[in-house]
Amino acid sequence: MTPQHSHPAAPRTLSRPRTLSRLHGRRRVAAAVALAVALPLGAAAPAAADARFPSTEGSGSLAAVRTHDDVVQELQKLERTSRYGVEAFTLAEAGMQVSTSEQGRDLWVATVGTGEEHVWLQGRIHGNEPYGTDALLTLLKDLGSNGSPEHELLRSTFTFHVIPMYNPDGAEANIRHTVLWDQVAGAPEGGTPQRIDLNRDWTPTGFAADESLAFYEYWTTVDPAWGIDIHHQGLKQEAGTGDDVTLSLGISLAPGGPTLPGLQDGAYDVLTRQMQVHVYDELARYGFINTDRYQVGGSYEIDIRGGVVSAMMMGLDHAGMNPEGHSHPVVFFETSGNTSEGSLGQKARGRSVQQNVLAVKELLLGLATGEVQQEDPERWAEIPHQPVTGYSTDWAGTIPVG
Ligand SMILES: [Zn+2]
Repeated sequence: MTPQHSHPAAPRTLSRPRTLSRLHGRRRVAAAVALAVALPLGAAAPAAADARFPSTEGSGSLAAVRTHDDVVQELQKLERTSRYGVEAFTLAEAGMQVSTSEQGRDLWVATVGTGEEHVWLQGRIHGNEPYGTDALLTLLKDLGSNGSPEHELLRSTFTFHVIPMYNPDGAEANIRHTVLWDQVAGAPEGGTPQRIDLNRDWTPTGFAADESLAFYEYWTTVDPAWGIDIHHQGLKQEAGTGDDVTLSLGISLAPGGPTLPGLQDGAYDVLTRQMQVHVYDELARYGFINTDRYQVGGSYEIDIRGGVVSAMMMGLDHAGMNPEGHSHPVVFFETSGNTSEGSLGQKARGRSVQQNVLAVKELLLGLATGEVQQEDPERWAEIPHQPVTGYSTDWAGTIPVG
């Protein structure tokens, strides 16, 4: 199949006048210039299949996908060369009791920024979803060295905890999961490989995999105020228009669903929608990005309580390690094109990574300026999506709507 797409050259607008963005128009334009240095401004959207778009044509080279060693080298280089104090360290160095992957690989974090609010930025919890790694390393490089007012604002408002490769074992094997491992025997625990989805493994009853406990303990020492999680999905078309979607905006506990409205008196039900409405608006200015709302199987909203970012919103207290029940809002992004279906695209890597960098930066700038908190959460309903038929959960199967 040859994907066709005909995005309008002008940014799409939603119905509500964007008063706030107009007030901040000058800053927004300056930010757009600063953020889009690598991209031709106002570039017209492609009118036909484009090798730079994710597609099944030319299956895309895994040679460009970063390995764990690549990540470690890049983190150490950024620590050496950054102007604004990037620190890269392993969870063992951070003093976590469990500190490596199932197969014994070091788990790495990098920090940058001096702000009081801590931000958790996580990529590649699914090992076969590579571009969270690339996007977060790019972002870390920018935050570590870019002297622009926008980056200065981000560094002075926030302290970032960047996890470019949450699942190094899965990344090395190019699989979604991690495999429970007997390090003494050097073989899968119990002989038969038991695959654990790390994004269903933060549960009240504990953690199956070492990666989960290690990052959970680290999370309890950070107490973030915000979080972002980067994933991949298959190729997807926008409801109604049929345009190819390049990025889907997700909230892992469905707004208005069975879980989120009950947290913090509904505060996260509002904040997460405001976060994604803001990202949707800001990304509409870039012709090569087409966003919609993340859904499961076409028409279900996701509601997974064992997802890492869900557990963060629910304030998971495992074994008394988070006794105050600290919690915070988190959203996730899903890049279209994945390794499993050979649909990363032949030359789409640059744009696929860049859209995540832009999405994260726009969201962070919006949080730093307070623009996010001024958005109308009800406009979440205007982000393109299929009519909702139910909730896809990891705790009660599929729950039909109404
Ligand atoms: Zn994923």
